[in-house]
Amino acid sequence: MNKNEWKDSGSCREYDTNLFFDKYEENEQLRPAIDKLCAACPMARQCFAVAVSQKEWGVWGGIYVENGKISREFNKHRSKENWAETWSYLTMDN
Ligand code: SF4
Repeated sequence: MNKNEWKDSGSCREYDTNLFFDKYEENEQLRPAIDKLCAACPMARQCFAVAVSQKEWGVWGGIYVENGKISREFNKHRSKENWAETWSYLTMDN
């Protein structure tokens, strides 16, 4: 698998890329739907790992990151329960 081939298996492959960047930033109502899409994505763990290691921006693995770090501003819609679920799918084998 080449460096970016994993993206072809991501649940977002047919979605507008802006949903994971500008639109996510601008529209707080939209965020839970994007979060849900990522939570069910088979590539979520890899996606988040890439974001951290490459210091990316935008939604990766269901978490909005800025320069590879978790953004306070663009994750403030999340509840404690949602964080727990998110860490669960990002860190535990299902
Ligand atoms: S976790 Fe989200 S952003 Fe990453 S590949 Fe899957 S659907 Fe796309």
